[in-house]
Amino acid sequence: MIDQPYVYRHRELVEPDWQRLPGWAEVSREDWESAQWQRAHCVKNIRQLRGVMGGGLAERFYADLERDQAERATMSMLLPPQMLNTMVPGLSPADPGFSDAFYADPVRRYMLPVFSDRHQEWPSHPHASRDSLHEAEMWPVEGLTHRYPTKVLAELLSTCPQYCGHCTRMDLVGNPTPVIDKHRFELGRDDRFAAMLAYLRANPGVRDVVVSGGDVANLPWPRLESFVAGLLEIDSIRDIRLATKALMGLPQYWLTDEVRSGMERLAATASQRDVSIAIHTHVNSAQSVTPLVARAAKAMLETGIRDVRNQGVLLRGTNDTAAQLLDLCFALLDDAKIMPYYFYMCDMIPGSEHWRLSLAEAQRLQHDIMGYLPGFATPRMVCDVPYVGKRWVHQVAGYDRERGISYWTKNYRTGVEADDSRALEREYEYYDPIYVLPETGQEYWRSRSRAPVGAAS
Ligand code: SF4
Repeated sequence: MIDQPYVYRHRELVEPDWQRLPGWAEVSREDWESAQWQRAHCVKNIRQLRGVMGGGLAERFYADLERDQAERATMSMLLPPQMLNTMVPGLSPADPGFSDAFYADPVRRYMLPVFSDRHQEWPSHPHASRDSLHEAEMWPVEGLTHRYPTKVLAELLSTCPQYCGHCTRMDLVGNPTPVIDKHRFELGRDDRFAAMLAYLRANPGVRDVVVSGGDVANLPWPRLESFVAGLLEIDSIRDIRLATKALMGLPQYWLTDEVRSGMERLAATASQRDVSIAIHTHVNSAQSVTPLVARAAKAMLETGIRDVRNQGVLLRGTNDTAAQLLDLCFALLDDAKIMPYYFYMCDMIPGSEHWRLSLAEAQRLQHDIMGYLPGFATPRMVCDVPYVGKRWVHQVAGYDRERGISYWTKNYRTGVEADDSRALEREYEYYDPIYVLPETGQEYWRSRSRAPVGAAS
């Protein structure tokens, strides 16, 4: 239960002082606000992290990070300065306690994971798998996931300006790591995009397209604009959502003249055709919502698009209390005008156990945040059940709490089960992290074969 009373107070957004970090002590505001400077100074390895921190971060952290990269990480390191700067915003590396605060930081915990963060006995659930949502099985054309009756996900590219440790699309997105290689698209980009548009023209039952990746902020703007313009020419498409965590991780990009004027053109066409364009972003912690993020979100709204919404991920150590979630939702809503929308349970990919919450914990969080936010801005906690799709956490059909197995049903058939007459009678399973189970439940899983570390690669 949330500590009572949770007291709402409007908090001014603050851009942490980047000059407190020795490597950026001389960086001007003009450079900081330049998307080009941000991209050129992303932190991609330990040497560059040392350069920014200037010796203030304890050696044990670097050793812990290095071991994680060698033995556990499914995503390589990629941190725009904007994002790194939101970690431990109130301390500089020379301050006492900085290293401990860095270890405990909610953003660090998911953007820069270290070996000691992971669960030592169960780094992965035995049922964890790469592409845990089986998206590639539902591609009628490469990169276009059709798993709901009226909606599709268009994965346009496999890179992002930032890489999140828990990325659900770790199968495809980012660079290979020592424990995970990556799927590569076979078709060239233009052929893939043309095939996607052709599929949508041929399937007027689809009305809603999530344009994603990766992160659309890594697609050259003219290419993104022409793809979205192609969608706007298809009469049956009524909703278009552009997925970009970079609205928070690299807001400088969304503030460039090229992007703002391009979005204005798309919004004007969408408005003429009665189509809704929205941006969906991915913010997990209140401290990530800075004045630059708010400026970028409002700049996008000013172009005339319908909305900017947030789809966060529930992560232990980052946002697993109701107070953290409410702080985040109020920060998004009050000054950035970003609509809290969903919080997903973290998917069952290798190495994610220490981040994942149980279904019971997610249900509890949903219960505990009710009544504080406007109803239209109260996010839903959702479980993305393999082969089923998103379900609100209270829609579970059955729940074995001892073994941590929840059972779910589905109400439509998609391409993969088109010939399966029992698809709608079956119950589909989802699994809690084993270490939160009662001892008898943990014994059940120990007695079964355990998946190797970094399973399913
Ligand atoms: S921004 Fe999204 S797609 Fe990119 S690494 Fe993070 S979770 Fe994955």
